[in-house]
Amino acid sequence: MPSSNGFDGQPHRRHKPGLEDYLKAIEMDVIYGRGIGDTLFCRMADGGEIEVLDLVGGYGTMLLGHHHPRVIAAATEFLTSSAANHVQGSIRLGANQLANALAARMDRDFCLVLANSGTEAIEAALKHALLETGGRTFIAVEGGFHGKTLGALRVTSNPQFRVPFGDAEPNIIHLPPNDVRQLESILSEVNDPAGFIFEPIQGEAGVRPLSAEFAQAAARWCAKRRVPMIADECQTGLGRTGRFLASESLGVTPDYVLLSKALGGGIAKISALLIDRRRYRPDFDLIHSSTFADDEFSSAIALRVLQLIDDDALASCRSKGSFLLEQLQLLKQRYPSVIADVRGRGLMIGVELQRPEESAGFVLNHLADRGLLGPLVASYLLNEHRVRVAPTLSNSMTLRIQPSLFIRDDQLRSAVDAMTEVCQRLDARDVAGLSRMLTRTTISHASIPPAPRSSVGVFHYHSSQQIRRAVVKRSQPDESRHVAWIFHLIDQSDLNHLDSGLQSFSDESRKNYCDRWGLFAEPIVMDSIEVRSSSGEFVTLSPILLPVTSEWMLKNARGKLARAPQLVQRAVDVAESIGCGVVALGQFTSIVTRCGATLNLSNRKMRVTSGSSYTVALVDQAVRAQLTQRDWDPADLVLGVLGAAGDIAGTCASVLGPYFKRSILVGSGRIGSFERLQSVAGRVPRATVATDPRQLEQANVIVCATNSASALIGPECLCSDAIVCDASVPKSMSPGIAEQMPSVTFCPGAVVQLPHRERIDIPGFPLPPGYTYGCMAEGLLLGLEGVQPGRWGGRSSPNQVSIMTQIAARHGFRVAGSAVDWRPAEPT
Ligand code: PMP
Repeated sequence: MPSSNGFDGQPHRRHKPGLEDYLKAIEMDVIYGRGIGDTLFCRMADGGEIEVLDLVGGYGTMLLGHHHPRVIAAATEFLTSSAANHVQGSIRLGANQLANALAARMDRDFCLVLANSGTEAIEAALKHALLETGGRTFIAVEGGFHGKTLGALRVTSNPQFRVPFGDAEPNIIHLPPNDVRQLESILSEVNDPAGFIFEPIQGEAGVRPLSAEFAQAAARWCAKRRVPMIADECQTGLGRTGRFLASESLGVTPDYVLLSKALGGGIAKISALLIDRRRYRPDFDLIHSSTFADDEFSSAIALRVLQLIDDDALASCRSKGSFLLEQLQLLKQRYPSVIADVRGRGLMIGVELQRPEESAGFVLNHLADRGLLGPLVASYLLNEHRVRVAPTLSNSMTLRIQPSLFIRDDQLRSAVDAMTEVCQRLDARDVAGLSRMLTRTTISHASIPPAPRSSVGVFHYHSSQQIRRAVVKRSQPDESRHVAWIFHLIDQSDLNHLDSGLQSFSDESRKNYCDRWGLFAEPIVMDSIEVRSSSGEFVTLSPILLPVTSEWMLKNARGKLARAPQLVQRAVDVAESIGCGVVALGQFTSIVTRCGATLNLSNRKMRVTSGSSYTVALVDQAVRAQLTQRDWDPADLVLGVLGAAGDIAGTCASVLGPYFKRSILVGSGRIGSFERLQSVAGRVPRATVATDPRQLEQANVIVCATNSASALIGPECLCSDAIVCDASVPKSMSPGIAEQMPSVTFCPGAVVQLPHRERIDIPGFPLPPGYTYGCMAEGLLLGLEGVQPGRWGGRSSPNQVSIMTQIAARHGFRVAGSAVDWRPAEPT
């Protein structure tokens, strides 16, 4: 749904840039211009508007819909009346009228404390309960959501405002919901109770109703211990569930009641704490205050809202709610593999998605593990059906459905139709269809912040296309012999190996998809493999995949919010958590962490290697083998080194260069790179530098090790009988070059043959069984040697290259012959 960004070229990354990027990544960065009833109007790039059915309803705020005419009339009347609005320290007429109206509506004698948001009203309730009871322990319910404020009072200096509530933090006990036995046993042990706080239906936990039995047991305890029962009805109150208060349905009469959201009629920010008069402490009024609370405008709106929530309104919530609940429950029966549960009361409904089965493929499983399946479905419904739903805040698998009480029947039906269609796709595991909106355009990488971290465990990927969150067993008791190899996808075509469901995407779509996907990526531990030395000893290898491409790694390598190094660091953390004593940084994971130098390894008993020394050793051996085969003397030949400003190619130049007649060192010419190139040239006798790869045409032997995400070398850069050793992944050589230049010898860059030819069983691993890369092999060799923790030299050096050559010989690791094909066929 390509909408207008509405900023007309103005800088627009000042408000919540992190959220903006997140919304962009899931194609939900929409601007809504207008809202009427249950319809939002989305502004389009061409100036037009698109209608969207709003089932999120401002997180429950829009019980009366957007811009209800009578609410707007109350606002207009107020604004045109010149009524005084903020006059603190005076008698507040509107607040008094509101208090009376609320007390009358509930038929109870309450004192009213007003605030501006749900969380502030909760703070007021907790403070009052501390003052009232002198207790220190609050009982809450697991899954409960009551707000996000941290501690303004703690940093307020005046003791008069702080001391009455105690200086220490209150104790909090969270009870498992609906377990009466546990409730009774836990509560019997509480010495200094201050109150019990609960939501009759836990909204943000995924619309989970509390049982009447549980609530009543809690009410009995409160009465016995003389502490307040505090009902947080910020979301459930004011008729949303078909009763004025949802606690009525539980058969309890709370001592404190909290209302918010719908109370503001969709335009005012107001919350209310109602405290049974018999409990109310008038001294609270003098020590608790808020600048904006008690304003006349919000009170006038809230009064009008109360008038509108009459018996008919409650009946409407009940009847529309039961229709919707029934339809969604039928859907659950039809698609039990898609919908796990449909819950709620009145117009507060949650649809919990089923966790996909492992066989549903990598993408759906990874999204589910990252808490992104709910957002994906929300994005699909918005983009394909123009229906707006959102996951609940603490349970991303549950979609909240909270329309207004005026929602029309035809709108209810289109909501059900849209849900039906998405269920069909999920049931068919149509990952391409469900995520096609993510393939349309690329997104900017300007400053993508770290993705919100879900409480991820270790993701484990086993056998083809199956992924699950798992406790990965420490199969190797000797940590120094447990080796992690951190690697990533080479390019977007590797997605096909991970999830065959994406095969219908074009290459461009897959590329766009990968760009977004990177924002959500987490390391994945693959099945471990035992690799043996020729001496019979073995190490355990745990490959850890970063499901991002080389290009993504480079784009996200630098800057304050550089995601690529952070992702590598998380992979190192995962490696430690599964007991790896050696970490080999594969592919660009080494580049983005400057050969591991930027990784935080403090207090870690692990050895981290970039694998570059053994990579150089393999290039050296491969080149020498070819020279011997051709009976060529390097003293008569020209060596060309592409990427010589980098660590691997630079050391290749240092190791091989002295044997050649002369060397041409080619670099990118980027700032910084040219200086490094010249400094490498200073170490290599008879070396010249260049930035044009066509200079390599003069070379008889060419070594490539670049960190470019694309091929740099075409036929115009090679002489017809050259020997080429390309250690870059992705390759520096353009595709098809071997067919175009049959007399050139291409030997695999840094590929090693394992002594016992173990199969590295990773989908899409681009080498045949029995072979692996030098960077991984270096980790394996360090594991076999049982080396001490620390960084293994960081950058490579000729000295380390010769040490690795000796270690490799000791364990029977050999450079691969020239026949190794470096890319497998695309899966069919
Ligand atoms: N309590 C409940 C039950 C809520 O649902 C919410 C908000 N979702 C809050 C408190 C906090 O409200 P606010 O975001 O206005 O601070």
